[in-house]
Amino acid sequence: MTNYAADLPNRKATSQSEQADPRQVENSAGGFVFAVDDWARLERWLILGAEGGSYYASQKAMTLDSASVVKRCLDVDGPRTVKTIVSVSTSGRAPKNDPAIFALALAAAHTSPAVRALALASLANVCRTGTHLFTFVASANATRGWGRGLRRAIRDWYANRSADSLAMQVAKYQQRDGWSHRDLLRLSHATATDQVKKAVLRWAVTGNTGARTVRLGKHATSPTKEWPALDAALPRVIVGLERLRDDAGLTPAQAAQIIVDHGLTHEMVPSAYLAHAAVWEGLLSANMPLGALTRNLARMTANGLLQSGAAASKGVAARLVDGADIKRARLHPVSVLTALKTYASGRGSKGSLTWAPVPKILDALDDAFYLAFGAVEPVGKPVMLALDVSGSMAGAMIAGSPLTAREASAAMAMVTARVEPDYDLVGFAAGAGGGYGGQWGGTCRLVPLGITAKTALPDVVKAMEAIPMGATDCALPMLHALERSQKVDGFVVYTDSETWHGAVHPYQALRKYRAETGQAAKLAVVATSATAFTIADPTDGGMMDVVGFDTAAPTVIADFLRGRSAEGPID
Ligand code: CA
Repeated sequence: MTNYAADLPNRKATSQSEQADPRQVENSAGGFVFAVDDWARLERWLILGAEGGSYYASQKAMTLDSASVVKRCLDVDGPRTVKTIVSVSTSGRAPKNDPAIFALALAAAHTSPAVRALALASLANVCRTGTHLFTFVASANATRGWGRGLRRAIRDWYANRSADSLAMQVAKYQQRDGWSHRDLLRLSHATATDQVKKAVLRWAVTGNTGARTVRLGKHATSPTKEWPALDAALPRVIVGLERLRDDAGLTPAQAAQIIVDHGLTHEMVPSAYLAHAAVWEGLLSANMPLGALTRNLARMTANGLLQSGAAASKGVAARLVDGADIKRARLHPVSVLTALKTYASGRGSKGSLTWAPVPKILDALDDAFYLAFGAVEPVGKPVMLALDVSGSMAGAMIAGSPLTAREASAAMAMVTARVEPDYDLVGFAAGAGGGYGGQWGGTCRLVPLGITAKTALPDVVKAMEAIPMGATDCALPMLHALERSQKVDGFVVYTDSETWHGAVHPYQALRKYRAETGQAAKLAVVATSATAFTIADPTDGGMMDVVGFDTAAPTVIADFLRGRSAEGPID
């Protein structure tokens, strides 16, 4: 006797390499999963971007794909799309602002004049620094013409700033992506009536190229070595910057004094001076922005300014845990974790720069990471935090950082683990070489992570680095809980949803868990790459998608898990 029915896909247990539901699509790994809608994809793009690509797709392919998602959103609802772009950018939810800038440039090139106008009206909100503006212009230049609307928006970008803000922008960010303020000021014909702003714009056009010959050619009446006197109306940052450039023979202490007196940032200081600890001490006293501070910790430690017990170290550690400043500076957890991973390692990725990390600063960075996510209210029920630690998660980097998706996911799971009274933190990958047989309650391969909610972040990263590559089966967390009769109210799975290996789909495993335990368990899927894929059934109210490394995600997850019971089908 042959039981032909056994060959049919079973609704409750379908191999992940087969379609279990007509709504499912094939993912890049050859498994079948659900697809999120374009609005969810827009958020994934804005927060995750595609820098460096994923394990399965190149940066270029992902960017082209995401550009078509942004265009579809713009076609359907331009105002909603622009509003989403502005909201994600201004709230600092994303590790990088570049995906938002790119999306805004696409909106500024849309066929609808109303959508273009909306996008250009938001230019200053999304492009808050000179560098952002250059990045936008590079994209806009590639996707649209130099119409009046674009020229006016750029003119307003300069015109609507205070004199101090204007001076800071042109002095700090001089050029990027082949564009300079001189180019933009000439193209947009920006002008000012205010004497100080006028002087700044004149300086930006004639004097900030870094090449002295330009000023000499424009202003000198005779070919002497005497530079023309600076415009008396110029604000102090530009005067200070010019003094550092003009006087090549300053001692580090003299340079530091000029930095402090004029409130300069490191971008304004000639590189020869940046080798000296005294100069960095000056930059610190001149109130170095928090982002720059975080990125230059290794440098300041290597040059001897930051040492154990030194006053400078205490000052820096105190600044790193200033929650209000973290919020104001939009310091992102991924930036903090990047700084922490590098700083803790004691050596730079290139060259032979080494340093002895200051323990107090390591602790401060650890705290800063959690502060950057903001306060999270616990769910207060049993939660399983399940990390996809498979090969594709080890082979994808997050937002151009040196962090793999699984390192950053583990750190993000820590945010929840630290506040939950009842958490279980597990990693899953199918056994190497296809060892996982796919039987119900069979050889579920949970990978020991060796971390707890109390583990320091550098140790979290090290533990993740040490896990070998494996295949992906996202049903494992639910199967594992079922096998052990473990009570779980909320499963949180951190994954790229490139699941393909198991004998049962993750959503089926969750329903099986609900049916067998009587628990209305929920599933939150935390996406780690900007694809269309999810293991969550979009029509099941007890399953939900959030975007990984979104600073809002831990709170969104907790609210979802704390909320009402699952409304989806329980069978
Ligand atoms: Ca994988």
